[in-house]
Amino acid sequence: MSSIASNIAATVRRIRDAEQIAQRSASSVTLLAVSKTKPVERLREAYIAGQRDFGENYLQDALPKIEQLAGLGICWHFIGPLQSNKSRLVAEHFDWFHSLDRAKIARRLSEQRPAALGPLNVCIQVNISVEASKSGVMPAQAAALAKEIQGLPGLSLRGLMAIPSSALDDAGQTLAFTQMRQLFEQLKPLAPQMDTLSMGMSDDLEAAVAEGSTLVRIGTAIFGDRERSLPPV
Ligand SMILES: *Cc1c(COP(=O)(O)O)cnc(C)c1O
Repeated sequence: MSSIASNIAATVRRIRDAEQIAQRSASSVTLLAVSKTKPVERLREAYIAGQRDFGENYLQDALPKIEQLAGLGICWHFIGPLQSNKSRLVAEHFDWFHSLDRAKIARRLSEQRPAALGPLNVCIQVNISVEASKSGVMPAQAAALAKEIQGLPGLSLRGLMAIPSSALDDAGQTLAFTQMRQLFEQLKPLAPQMDTLSMGMSDDLEAAVAEGSTLVRIGTAIFGDRERSLPPV
């Protein structure tokens, strides 16, 4: 077994254990492999090991990989910050966009989404740790953005996403995840089709699953340390 295959197996085991401890049904949590900055060969290894959902943060890094792996039935998630002048590339090449935090980008993505692909699945990114520097809407603004997205034919609002501050201790982290679950429940009447709570990374997936995450975004635990960091596009 390649090390990536064994890392995926170990990560799936962590997820299944966390589901069981939380008394949630097996496979209620999706594993998103965050392959940003990783060469396409590593993604192929993950694919051979059965992985089908991949997350990318940098467009110029992701697009060649999407092209090289076309036709394999991979579900591509864009999880990084997006400048509005690059929105068309996400609308045309991705299945999901997790970091939606502005109505302007929502409208552009909806207009630019090719009809043949069906609506782009989106999550509203919430700035749950309320840090001035972070992206994401403040929790109090999420409902207004959700209403706006509900009116856009090219988008399907699937849920919420958060990246709690890495400076939080365990209790702070759990509180942030709990607040996300509560916000999700508050917004659900506005968008009953919502089924996704995108939260939890390599270091905190257990806490996220315990608080209701349905999709964990895992980079380091699958692919090892980030090799280099690219500027966001
Ligand atoms: C890099 C990244 C991850 C994965 O983080 P790890 O700690 O490496 O698992 C998850 N979500 C987002 C938005 C990221 O940028």
